[in-house]
Amino acid sequence: MYLLIQSSKFDKTMKKILTFVIVLASSIAFSQNNASYWQQHVDYTMDVDVNVENYQYKGTQTLVYTNNSPDELQQVFYHLYYNAFQPGSEMDERLKSIVDPDSRMITNIGTSDNPIWESRIAKLKPNEIGYLNVLLLKQNGKPVKFFTEGTVMNVALNKSIQPGEKVTFEMTFEGQLPVHIRRAGRNNRDGVALSMAQWYPKMAEYDFEGWHANPYIGREFYGVWGNFDVTIHIDRNYTIGGTGYLQNPQEIGHGYEDPSKKLNIMKGEKLSWHFVAPNVHDFAWAADPKYVHDIRKTANGTDLHFFYKKIPKYKKAWKEVQQYTEKALNYFNEQIGPYPYKQYSVIQGGDGGMEYAMCTFIARGETPKSVRGTVFHELAHSWFHQLLANNESKHSWMDEGFASYFSGLVSNEIFNEGINKPLAGNYDLYYYAVENGLNEPLTTHADRFDTNTAFVIGSYTKGRMFISQLNYIIGEKNVEKTIKKYFNDFKFKHPTPNDLKRTAEKVSGLQLDWYLNEWIETTHTIDYAIAKVKDNSITLVRVGQMPMPLDITVTYIDGTTEDFNIPLRMMRGSKPTTAIVLENWPWANPSYTFNTTKIVQSVAIDPLEFMADIDKSNNYFMRK
Ligand SMILES: [Zn+2]
Repeated sequence: MYLLIQSSKFDKTMKKILTFVIVLASSIAFSQNNASYWQQHVDYTMDVDVNVENYQYKGTQTLVYTNNSPDELQQVFYHLYYNAFQPGSEMDERLKSIVDPDSRMITNIGTSDNPIWESRIAKLKPNEIGYLNVLLLKQNGKPVKFFTEGTVMNVALNKSIQPGEKVTFEMTFEGQLPVHIRRAGRNNRDGVALSMAQWYPKMAEYDFEGWHANPYIGREFYGVWGNFDVTIHIDRNYTIGGTGYLQNPQEIGHGYEDPSKKLNIMKGEKLSWHFVAPNVHDFAWAADPKYVHDIRKTANGTDLHFFYKKIPKYKKAWKEVQQYTEKALNYFNEQIGPYPYKQYSVIQGGDGGMEYAMCTFIARGETPKSVRGTVFHELAHSWFHQLLANNESKHSWMDEGFASYFSGLVSNEIFNEGINKPLAGNYDLYYYAVENGLNEPLTTHADRFDTNTAFVIGSYTKGRMFISQLNYIIGEKNVEKTIKKYFNDFKFKHPTPNDLKRTAEKVSGLQLDWYLNEWIETTHTIDYAIAKVKDNSITLVRVGQMPMPLDITVTYIDGTTEDFNIPLRMMRGSKPTTAIVLENWPWANPSYTFNTTKIVQSVAIDPLEFMADIDKSNNYFMRK
């Protein structure tokens, strides 16, 4: 996802925040049961009838749920996400109380000099709210009791589900698509009629940690892997783009048809669109009567579909982005691993950019640069979250970090932006967060960060820096191999931070528990300093709490230079390097001295600045 922050309000309240923000360093242990990995499985069949006049829809859902866990399940939970868009919902309350609300979700009822923010959810009328009501639910043919609290439906099963057992849930439900406030909704600001994300009752994920029936506050998702068969009946003038392969293109047309075959368009006021999506963990779609639908066939067999409003101001960007989407797809296929689906759709919808299975919703398009930047980020999410489906709510840094890292790399690759490759962007936002008390541990649940700013900087910037710095710690080639192995070993699964760490350890032969712990689970910062230089002797100190291996460049008075590497003892080795590898530095030792063969003129710690050292002023020494 791409996030916008209401920054002016944020700046104004910065002082206020700083007085009470206490950054809690939590130490939640990651556990992972690699040897006995399992994941639940879902097979959804849905049939929905959409009324485009009042944005209401009615549907049936048959869900065959397979309990692959070793546990007997007494209850199950469904997400009813659209219930968040109601006055007084948890999303509304959070919006009203957070100091830096998302600008898309609020209205300024004051003046520009003296803004007063009002929750847009709080003002929704009954015909504008969102809802999902389950009318009937059966477990293996028998009605089952359920109740709804906000966005979560609790089901007390008639009969518990045994390990290995399959049960069938049959449901009838009705929904109303809310006025567009966040991610999904009707008539977004680009004028797209229906942005249908999180639109159906969705089984919550149960994994080795238990249930993840999180209330929907506005953030991240985590879904059960499975197959979707979805039929949508909608006004025949509307074009649909979304997850899945259309099964009846000759009956639908709208740009999906095979021109070499005979068209047999359905009769009646509505068309019935039949989609099938294999091996995904979500299903999203958007529809509009004025979509342009372009298809770009790529050499590797993935058809890229583009859906955008037939409005002149969008045409240039939405045409231009098509070739770049293909280039980015090729780059990611090569650098990460092959995209396994035959289709990917870039759809104008939503309110920024958000990743879904086999598609993305991208808003706007007045300038080519903004659209392609968002497309790169969201396309990267096809690997980092749609295929490597980490729990986004608990570890949003994993998918946002990788998506940000790879969108930086691909942009650099396509447009020769001259960014040093492993860096993939700068660290400034992270330093800002550290300086302003906004650095929270990345074990914080996505909904529970103190501010939106802390969440964004933590997940996107600090997440990306996890990988940038990994290049510094284990070497660039090892990171490239790690990414490919991580994809290969964990695609179509739910990898955890520990899986990522273990993959890097297996590839590099180096131990990295300390790195995952310090960078992700704590708010420790890095600060190394040059304490003393005398003739050919150099003494360094660790000022910050977080240890790191060090790259040091020394220039001698004769003008020659030498590179040194000081491994961190805890790593039990050093990265592949052309530098002179010195004795390792046990982290507990506050200082470290080494001698060179010649008289020292200047010293630089990490001259390429890959390490997020928060005080660079003490990283350099120059003999006067
Ligand atoms: Zn993202």
